[in-house]
Amino acid sequence: MGPAQQLSLEMDLAPPIKLTLAKKPTPKRSKRRAVPRRASSPVPGGAPLFQRVFTRLGCEGRPPRFRVEFYPYASLVLTIRRREDLVYVRFSDLLQRAPLAVLEGAAALLLSRVYRRKAPRSLVAPYLNYARSNRTRSRISRMRRGRVRLASAGPQGRHFDLEKMFEELNERYFSGSLQRPHIGWSTRSWRRQFGCYDPGPNQILLNRRMDHPAVPQVAVEYVLYHEMLHVKHPTRRSGCGLVSHSPEFRAEEKLFADFARARRILDHLAR
Ligand SMILES: [Zn+2]
Repeated sequence: MGPAQQLSLEMDLAPPIKLTLAKKPTPKRSKRRAVPRRASSPVPGGAPLFQRVFTRLGCEGRPPRFRVEFYPYASLVLTIRRREDLVYVRFSDLLQRAPLAVLEGAAALLLSRVYRRKAPRSLVAPYLNYARSNRTRSRISRMRRGRVRLASAGPQGRHFDLEKMFEELNERYFSGSLQRPHIGWSTRSWRRQFGCYDPGPNQILLNRRMDHPAVPQVAVEYVLYHEMLHVKHPTRRSGCGLVSHSPEFRAEEKLFADFARARRILDHLAR
């Protein structure tokens, strides 16, 4: 695992395991921190637990130092990243009351990926069973409803009013039939995404970077229209994930009057 590399395992309603490996550039510290950091809490016995599993997997060399925390992710997520000789691990706080075997399984999953070891099934099984159980799934969806909606700065931006825009688009493209979800600007700028729809809290968020006089209104409208299509074509995962854009979705997206122009503007903004 190279420096500043991050591995994140997400267990969600969709197929059993989602794996994303994000190579993050060294995080630039944002000067303004609009949102207070969510609280994390140490996992009792977390470091020795990881050292035990490290040894059991037959990883070579001296184990690194581990710092292990519960973190209020909006889903069942495990992340691991290394900075120099310190390895940071975060477990979703859904695991706070999970049995030890489940935590060991989670540790084995993470370490086996990072150190390319094969984890014995018996070690990993308690976590997988826990993650896939109906009880855990319903806890995830209950939690998502409450949690994800926190991040909105409201629909009225400095330059664009998303609620008004929603009503106009709803009339123009949906005959006014779309139920209005929660809508807001993101509380901070995102690097990669213009917008997002999350079916859990039923919320559309647009990247606050676009609430700017230099951004043509048609581009904002297009992003909102795209997210509105996610409301109309529900998927299990939040919008702009891997499986959300069906052929029907894509066809309907092209009905947007200024489709080509809006796309060009976004391509330009994305640079
Ligand atoms: Zn999308």
